[in-house]
Amino acid sequence: VFEHILHVPENPMHVMNLAYDKDTSPVKLNLGMGVYRTEDGKPLVLNVLRQAEQLLINDLSRPKEYLPVTGLTEFNELSAKLIFGEDSLAIKEKRVTTVQCLSGGGSLLVGAEFLSRHYHQVHTLAYLPMFAYASNQLDLTFYVALQKIIYVPQPTFGLHPILFSAVGLSVKTYRYYDPTKRELNFQGLLEDLDSAPSGAIVLLHACAHNPTGADPTSEQWEQIRELIRSKRLLPFFDSAYQASTGKLTTPLDVDAESVRMFAADGGESVVAQSYSKNMGLYGERIGALSFVCRTADVASRVGSQLKLVIRPMYSNPPIHGASIVAAILSDRALYNEWTIELKATADRIISMRKQLFDALQARGTPGDWSHILAQVGMFTYSGLDSEQVTFMTKEYHIYIPSDGRINMAGLSTKAVPHLADAIHAAVTK
Ligand code: PMP
Repeated sequence: VFEHILHVPENPMHVMNLAYDKDTSPVKLNLGMGVYRTEDGKPLVLNVLRQAEQLLINDLSRPKEYLPVTGLTEFNELSAKLIFGEDSLAIKEKRVTTVQCLSGGGSLLVGAEFLSRHYHQVHTLAYLPMFAYASNQLDLTFYVALQKIIYVPQPTFGLHPILFSAVGLSVKTYRYYDPTKRELNFQGLLEDLDSAPSGAIVLLHACAHNPTGADPTSEQWEQIRELIRSKRLLPFFDSAYQASTGKLTTPLDVDAESVRMFAADGGESVVAQSYSKNMGLYGERIGALSFVCRTADVASRVGSQLKLVIRPMYSNPPIHGASIVAAILSDRALYNEWTIELKATADRIISMRKQLFDALQARGTPGDWSHILAQVGMFTYSGLDSEQVTFMTKEYHIYIPSDGRINMAGLSTKAVPHLADAIHAAVTK
């Protein structure tokens, strides 16, 4: 009965990792997957995480019972405060409903499945006299629910189109990046959102856009917000990198600015949060999904329906990651230590940007490489094409995806000259 099943090619990132593992060169460098590495190229477990886990282990009264369908209540409350802010009016007015999900990917999936079932993307059609006559309608307006459309940036995180199509949403793209100027294509973004049908869902990266590292400025976010609200589009935020841009001394707040702008205007939004990167909890699969509604009553009804989405998927979420996050976010000392460690990781990435830029300058590598410094978060969208990437892998044992995205968090001071040599050779060959 399974003879007709076709084999699907492996995910390119997986293929790349296998090739890297097999490579015996001592200078090989994996700058593909978006994971943080130390200067020695090792995975990082934050000190504060170890402390929180120790506290959990020492507490012998801790049960291993099932969590509710919506997860650990304390975790949900703390996660909402982390993204919407301590003083969020939406939270105070109980207009936010938050559920624990399986990290960023799981939060996006539950949110998208909910929208696929319950969101009515309503379009106003022109008056159709015949139809009005036939249905004896006096109202001159007809509302017709069309296919549910979600707009994602071009380019975007590879899972977005796959995940949204899987739940039956129709995926379209809006212009996001100008590959010639190597910066945000703000005009293109505004034009495409302006011509989107009213009611469409718009996926927005809250900060540190993956893969381009190009974010709108605060003023540009404000313009995006005004456009989205005036066109009655529904913003769906993906916040996978809160506190990764290393801006200012309050990175958690700065990186949530876009989300908070939308929550503050009283309108609806959906927000998926991940703790994979900012707590290094990748394999614990811990994240949160929030719906910001217009009233507390609506938020409570949305929350009840979210249970019906989650229950048949996986009954209820795992307890360990949520307990770690709740332990850190609820304890002042641990929280402060977390922010210090976070800042150190973000600063290391910024230093890698500077070192790579300087190394290319020193080699006189042709081209303008200032985008390496201007882009934020883990990734540099280098502008190297797939042929150059293949050359770098073959000749220099450097592994990056074919779109030229470099994981700066995987780089080290020791490896910078090797990478710079490879880029130089690739662009001058
Ligand atoms: N959104 C974006 C933009 C991402 O880059 C990622 C992971 N790289 C995720 C969501 C999902 O990550 P996770 O499921 O591990 O939280």
